[in-house]
Amino acid sequence: MSDRLNQSQDFEDGIAVAVAIVGRDARGELAVTACNDHFFRITGGARAEMPVFPAAFDALFPGGAQPGFRAKLQECFRSGASQEFEQVFPQAPGQAPEQACGRPEGARRWRLTLKPFRHADGGAAVSEILVTGVDITAKLHLAHELEVSTSRFRAVVDSAYDAIVTIDEQRNITLFNRAAENLFGYASAEVIGQPIETLLPEKFRARHPQHVRQFADSVQMSLRSLSPPRMDESNSVYGRHRDGTIIPVEISISKINVDGVTEFTAVIRDITDRARLIELLKKQAVTDALTGLPNRREFLDFVDKVLGTDDIVSVFILDIDFFKKINDGFGHDVGDEVLRVLAKAGMSIAHESKLFARWGGEEFVAALPGADAGLARSIAERLRQRVAQQDFEHAWRVEPVPFTVSIGVVTREAGESDVDTLMRRADRALYRAKASGRNRVEVG
Ligand code: GH3
Ligand code: MG
Ligand code: MG
Repeated sequence: MSDRLNQSQDFEDGIAVAVAIVGRDARGELAVTACNDHFFRITGGARAEMPVFPAAFDALFPGGAQPGFRAKLQECFRSGASQEFEQVFPQAPGQAPEQACGRPEGARRWRLTLKPFRHADGGAAVSEILVTGVDITAKLHLAHELEVSTSRFRAVVDSAYDAIVTIDEQRNITLFNRAAENLFGYASAEVIGQPIETLLPEKFRARHPQHVRQFADSVQMSLRSLSPPRMDESNSVYGRHRDGTIIPVEISISKINVDGVTEFTAVIRDITDRARLIELLKKQAVTDALTGLPNRREFLDFVDKVLGTDDIVSVFILDIDFFKKINDGFGHDVGDEVLRVLAKAGMSIAHESKLFARWGGEEFVAALPGADAGLARSIAERLRQRVAQQDFEHAWRVEPVPFTVSIGVVTREAGESDVDTLMRRADRALYRAKASGRNRVEVG
């Protein structure tokens, strides 16, 4: 019960307005003709007993300690215009000191309003002034705390490694941290108030408002929620730099609802390096390191896809004749050079959408979509001749190395759809080419 009383007293004190009426005595000195208890609090705490009114202003505000207040009263009497001002008053000795921001300990700040009265019979001159005062110390505390927490928030946001961008319900940018400035190439001041679509590649802009709306309509979470919803972006997401560069990014978006207003905050991480690495690894997985040609896996995938259609396709396997002798006679490095020379020759086969690949060791393969047996044979034969005649541009490191190749060619039979069967047939044709003396093309 007594707690309740205390609370109610605190509340009254908290909202209390100091009121006084100030006039002038016969000598023109300021005199307080009436005031409430709260008026005494301006100089610190309640007075033990009420003064006899009218009381000299200087008796209530001793020592002329408040020249500003006095001057405003005089000004109000003189001009007849209302005055409003804020002033810091030191607490009377013995008052509990209270930490006030940027002011002497225990000092309190008041907002004072002076309203002049004119008596009907007194003509135009101001005869009395109604003084009202509100203690705004606590409000200043709050303002200061808000300022501190705002700058703390700003510092954290700006030192974040990830870009942080907040938008309002109209999708306009309201926050853009330093990492976002670096990532997108815009200064914060340039994009605040601009639509978020500014930061997206052109082709994603049109549909983006719809995505945001869908996300906004998903279950609302409060500011205090431990796990705000995240916009599920399992697909690759891209941002757009000011210079037009497309930036692969990883993004998580939180929606928060503050006083019924929804805003979205995106934390955006640049994954350009990761995306590049993934691209590189993907490429390496299907590329032969020595020659740069597609590898066996890539070739099999390619042929498998063609066999999944009804299209005609031929393939061949090529094997260098007596390659071991080249290695033994010239060295392994020269053997490698021969493999690269052959890769170049195979790459220059003039057949649209062909794929020339390294099958392994000194064996190579070609897929020739659209080529029937006759065309495939002539393509293989042309390549065999070019190799045998050294009909290609190559600056040999030491001396030209003559070599020949044997090739086994097959064409997909009607309904044939198994790549392994097709390759086995090609291998048998190659075996026949070897068996018949090498440097030949055999069609299976
Ligand atoms: P054939 O005419 O019957 O094909 O005779 P060959 O000597 O070419 O046949 P074989 O398959 O016996 O020899 C292939 C050689 O290729 C054996 C191997 O050391 C060599 N080889 C495989 N891969 C590479 C490579 O990447 N670089 C080099 N320099 N040699 C390789
Ligand atoms: Mg071989
Ligand atoms: Mg060989």
